[in-house]
Amino acid sequence: MRKIFVAGNWKMNNGIAVAEDFMKGFGALLENDDKLFRAVGTKQLQIAVFPPFLSLAKSLECKPDPLMIVGAQNVNDKESGAYTGEVSIPMLQELEVKYVLIGHSERRHIFGETNEFLNKKLISSVKAGMTPVYCVGETLEERENGTAFDVIKAQLVEGMKGVSVAADKFIIAYEPVWAIGTGKTATPADAEEICKFVRETIKELYGADFAENVLILYGGSVKPDNTADIMAQPDIDGVLVGGASLKYGSFIEICKAAI
Ligand code: PEP
Repeated sequence: MRKIFVAGNWKMNNGIAVAEDFMKGFGALLENDDKLFRAVGTKQLQIAVFPPFLSLAKSLECKPDPLMIVGAQNVNDKESGAYTGEVSIPMLQELEVKYVLIGHSERRHIFGETNEFLNKKLISSVKAGMTPVYCVGETLEERENGTAFDVIKAQLVEGMKGVSVAADKFIIAYEPVWAIGTGKTATPADAEEICKFVRETIKELYGADFAENVLILYGGSVKPDNTADIMAQPDIDGVLVGGASLKYGSFIEICKAAI
């Protein structure tokens, strides 16, 4: 039985003071909700937030529960060196950060990160024992010209080439680019169609057992009121949330709706 994973990607929001306020507020609400608290305690539900680098230490210090995950939004594949502005895996490990987003559509489309480049990050992260949340998804143009499945297959095949990992140390997030931050959510059926395709592709690459156990998340304008319908889909194990994860009040409502 796969676990439920609810993740919040803060992007370039929530600096140190807001991160502290978020964690304290979220913690107080979590402790007062027996069902949610139990779900986290038994690991039926894993909750993660991905703050900007500068807010990582404060988020870790103030996070409410030892089981709550704080991950990074990006990482460089090299250990150290002349890479101005970058952060390495050993630096994240010094903070005991174990999860990292790789291939978010903003990294792909604004910062030009290719499948080949992301492959290096995945290989280095996995070798170092980190758990990547590998993001894939098509643009509106790709959806409309009928290449969405090809694009996503290439993101999986090229991005994960040579990545040797156990299913419980790897997460995939399907995020249609046209649904991110736009208020347009894929219908639950559309999201399921692609997440099922992702699982089938992973089965071809890693075998049935891996595909059965790996977590696949949906992301794209997830809100408290559409979470339950998305989570009802058989191949969707969780959600990756941007805008609605910035405030602890809406993020906790998404967590509640997910279980
Ligand atoms: C995201 O950035 O991963 C995302 C899904 O954003 P939003 O929920 O705001 O669409």
